[in-house]
Amino acid sequence: MSSKVRVRFAPSPTGYLHVGGARTALFNWVFARKHGGTFVLRIEDTDIARNTDEAMQAIFDGMRWLGLDWDEGPHAGGQCGPYFQSQRGAIYERYAQKLVEGGKAYTDEAGALRFRLPRQPLAFDDLVCGHIEIDRSKSQSRDGSPEADMTIRRADGGWIFHFVNVVDDIEMGITHVVRGEDHLSNTPKHIELYQALGVEPPQFGHIPLILNKDGSKMSKRDQGAAVGSYIEGGYAPEAVVNYIALLGWSPKDDSEKLSVDELIARFDFSGVNRKGAHFDLEKCNWLNAQYLMHLPMDRYLALALPWLEKAGITGDDATLTPVLALVREKVKFLTELPDWIGFFFTEEYPFLPDAEEKLRKPGALDRIAQLAEAYRAIEPWDSATLEVKLKELAATHGVKAAEFVHPARTAVSGKTVGPSLYHMLEVLGRERVLKRFARATQTFAG
Ligand code: GLU
Repeated sequence: MSSKVRVRFAPSPTGYLHVGGARTALFNWVFARKHGGTFVLRIEDTDIARNTDEAMQAIFDGMRWLGLDWDEGPHAGGQCGPYFQSQRGAIYERYAQKLVEGGKAYTDEAGALRFRLPRQPLAFDDLVCGHIEIDRSKSQSRDGSPEADMTIRRADGGWIFHFVNVVDDIEMGITHVVRGEDHLSNTPKHIELYQALGVEPPQFGHIPLILNKDGSKMSKRDQGAAVGSYIEGGYAPEAVVNYIALLGWSPKDDSEKLSVDELIARFDFSGVNRKGAHFDLEKCNWLNAQYLMHLPMDRYLALALPWLEKAGITGDDATLTPVLALVREKVKFLTELPDWIGFFFTEEYPFLPDAEEKLRKPGALDRIAQLAEAYRAIEPWDSATLEVKLKELAATHGVKAAEFVHPARTAVSGKTVGPSLYHMLEVLGRERVLKRFARATQTFAG
């Protein structure tokens, strides 16, 4: 890359941050990181009536959660600020003046400022869509009449998206405009504005639309559309980043699980598909479970902590880590964690109805008494030894191991499902296991 890469994500804060927007942000961010460039966040908030503070906050929160840090923009500052279009009126005024002085824009009878379309053939090479040629002399409006000159400022003084978008990309020194395919049809107009302003247009790359499984265009209301739903749904951000990266981009082999560093190393516009990307929440959920199983334990702990705190589960790292390690294979979403591990952190854990049923079975409490006896002095207290002992006991009594396993599990956890019994007993420790056996016996005796 000859000149230094400067890319931007330019959302309009009119709705929640959508996966489509997050993917645009991600591709720009990855491209910047790959080339040692700069990633700018610019808020396109000229549509005062439709902007909301919540939407703005959702953009910041969503990007931070995904780890897409911006080098310039709101909060980060930078040489090209302000980074809110609503605060850049004077800059737009200056550029508009330039067009007017050059005879390239004029005020119409209604008071709007219009850009005189050059009406010439035009060609550009899109990083994704390839070579595009359009004869703009033949461009028509929807009703078939010749395309009218482009309004760049309404009579009420409001700036039009196309103009301010181009001015900002010029002012901010953007080298590559990477955005959704829905903007491909705007690009000829944007190029004409660049040319009228005497500026070399940046490179454009239009990334494919995101489609539902049935091929319809994904809308903001579809499940999984809002980035907030992943934050609230207990996903690992790295899994969501990985999933979103694969929406329209592929590393050209079968790799599915790619770390952020791998994405940065392997991202290339030649790997961006021309065709629409099919959104598949199941695949995202699968990836999430994969990440939750294999993340480094300290990262897992960091992701788990807010969910545990919310549920009132507290403990130091040394207490929490072994418990989390026990269940992580089974946890599909971090939201499930309190349910999986709550019983480790209270001696007042409830016995669920199916657990109660098992403990009320004839003989169940005898098995617990026999196991308590066998475990009272066993050494060492580790899963392997506990397993051997339980199996020996079952053999001695001529019954299946399950006859001991079910009562033991339900007695110490109040549940019929959970992590591997022997590992769970090891982590609970002898003292607590024996106390729990006694509690279950007291609760269900007689
Ligand atoms: N504000 C525009 C949008 O959200 C940005 C378009 C662009 O990236 O150029 O669609």
